[in-house]
Amino acid sequence: MSLTLTRTDLLKEQNFIDGQWCDSSSGARYEVADPASGAQFAAVPASCAVDAAQATAAAQAALPAWRALPARERARFLKRWHALIVANTDDLAKLMSREQGKPLAEARGEVAYGASYVEWFAEEAVRSYGDVIPAQVRGKQLTVTKEAVGVVAAITPWNFPLAMIARKIAPALAAGCTVVAKPAEDTPLTALALARLAEEAGLPAGVLNIVTTSRDRAQDVVGAWLADARVRKITFTGSTAVGKLLACDSAGTLKRLSLELGGNAPFIVFDDADLDAAVDGLMAAKFRNGGQTCVSPNRVYVHDAVYAAFTQKLAARVEALRVGPATWEEAQIGPMINARAVDKIEAHVRDALAKGGRLVVGGKRVNDGVASGPNYYAPTVIAEANHDMALASEETFGPVVPLFRFSDEDQVVKLANDTPYGLAAYFYTRDIVRVARVAERLETGLVGINEGVLASEAAPFGGVKESGYGREGSRYGLDDYLQTKYRCQGGLA
Ligand code: ADP
Repeated sequence: MSLTLTRTDLLKEQNFIDGQWCDSSSGARYEVADPASGAQFAAVPASCAVDAAQATAAAQAALPAWRALPARERARFLKRWHALIVANTDDLAKLMSREQGKPLAEARGEVAYGASYVEWFAEEAVRSYGDVIPAQVRGKQLTVTKEAVGVVAAITPWNFPLAMIARKIAPALAAGCTVVAKPAEDTPLTALALARLAEEAGLPAGVLNIVTTSRDRAQDVVGAWLADARVRKITFTGSTAVGKLLACDSAGTLKRLSLELGGNAPFIVFDDADLDAAVDGLMAAKFRNGGQTCVSPNRVYVHDAVYAAFTQKLAARVEALRVGPATWEEAQIGPMINARAVDKIEAHVRDALAKGGRLVVGGKRVNDGVASGPNYYAPTVIAEANHDMALASEETFGPVVPLFRFSDEDQVVKLANDTPYGLAAYFYTRDIVRVARVAERLETGLVGINEGVLASEAAPFGGVKESGYGREGSRYGLDDYLQTKYRCQGGLA
């Protein structure tokens, strides 16, 4: 089906460097495919290190003027950009659904969510306060100011094509940084459309540069930024494996890093939980984006005393989910992003069933009259999960809920923490003392307490352990793009 946008100029198929739309220096391109059908529907530059370096040069040249602008003027730009994103919600959602596969209603929600970061950082831009420190001796004045880090390279994943890039670019620009960005190879078009709107909002040339490339050239483009001393910070959302590579390869120039990496989120249902609320919370947390989110509950621990009742309630809700393409307004679960993703889900389910799991719902690919294509997987519940299964230790990144049994608080907290990851954790209980105890002991950056939806532009999002470091959103999110300068002025006595 053709992609009909109200504003056809939002479908951009070129890099955006120094305020110009341009092809890659080699002229190479790669195809963007619709995950619902596998059909290719657009082509964008397959850029290389030369293009990355051009983007860096443009960002470096634009830095002094952008950094020197009064914060309120940078904020004005961000507000105009925010208004344009909101005004073009339908087109952005259509574009995003087409390249990523998520249902249209979710895509519209993501536009609002991504835009909320732009608005938030427009407001934060004017509040990057410093300090005046009482001097230890007469005649000196000690002051602390916050300054933009410099040129920032942003590398983003495909699961939230708009929100991930917006929540990196907005704080960077608010702080006075300039940006070079590489969106995920599967979803370059939403990022390019955002750049088009930034251009329309009047962003000066070179302040934001977008370089697209294919998976096999990602290392070439990003490698050029990692090695370049002009790039002062890397902000990355993606897998822990790639995050570790970036940390190693940026050591040569000791860059600042914000890494938002993989998770393996536990979701604990205690025996005193409100089970209906827990099912609601799990449905919201697990099935958003078909389970392809880094805060998606990967291990669901249910107390023995409520295990049967919880399983039954959950199964009924999961069974009722509607699987289909984004173009179908009623779809709740779209296709997975690509064949590699469905293969992994299938392998996890096969492994779990071979190791004693009991299939309650789903457990197969879907390819029928509505969800017709290679990348659909049925929402799945597997009971009697155990820790020998691959899905206990690896992110499944799909619509699969494994239910583990537990009987003791101490035991379940240890199990929840028994992972190298530490992004999100959730638990449901009505015992207020347990709330305090468990929230403190969970080793994650985010904790949902009787709540399945955590992310908000007003709150700090980020992990601990091998889920990375740095925070996005909230006033903490601006700090990631600022450095602290201490001035000591003498001779004042
Ligand atoms: P996923 O497995 O979800 O695709 P990745 O961590 O592989 O997550 O990808 C996240 C982002 O990192 C994407 O923009 C991708 O192109 C980029 N990327 C992947 N491999 C590399 C690499 N070796 N070096 C630099 N960037 C990479």
